[in-house]
Amino acid sequence: MRVVLVGPPGAGKGTQAQFIASRLSIPKISTGDIFRANVSGGTELGKLAKGYMDRGDLVPDEVTVAMVRDRLSEDDAQEGFLLDGFPRNVPQAEILKKMLAEFGTGLDLVLELVVDDEEVVRRLAGRRTCRSCGKVWHVDFDPPAVPGVCDACKGELFQRDDDREETIRHRLEVYQEQTSPLISFYADEGILVGVDATGPVEEVTQRAMSALRRFAD
Ligand SMILES: [Zn+2]
Repeated sequence: MRVVLVGPPGAGKGTQAQFIASRLSIPKISTGDIFRANVSGGTELGKLAKGYMDRGDLVPDEVTVAMVRDRLSEDDAQEGFLLDGFPRNVPQAEILKKMLAEFGTGLDLVLELVVDDEEVVRRLAGRRTCRSCGKVWHVDFDPPAVPGVCDACKGELFQRDDDREETIRHRLEVYQEQTSPLISFYADEGILVGVDATGPVEEVTQRAMSALRRFAD
């Protein structure tokens, strides 16, 4: 099965990508992993990408696309894959469609993890990180015994800039702007399925698996 997973920050996309891919026995292919593999492997594309990242620039689409093409050409991806982090926008989705057509295949399904903005803010803005050991707590879901103090090492807890409410709301806006057209694109293709991503991780995986099975029938 060839699947793309999309979802806002805080939807638990990375975790779900891992679980769903392993249940389907297909490789999870994330752009983050591809970047790291190319950079640490010292490939030409990796050197190119690193140049942009070192300058603090975005890696251009064509470099990302070339890396994705290389990865999708590998043996383990021939029977299926779960893409996480690609495509990010409609032009990339169109390129992916062409690429897969060249390989003689196409996407089976796009799973959208659906979670409302307020829930994302509640999940992310409640996180507190230990300054000493790096363990992440949550003021509601996983609070330490003493507020502000790490149970594991007695270190001081703080809120990372990434976990501030205004940062989260900004990331959600950017996500909406970029992803709404992508969602419409796949809805038009008739391969979009939304999955409610609230509740325990295992339940979300279960819902995603049911959606995949319904679609495969
Ligand atoms: Zn700690």
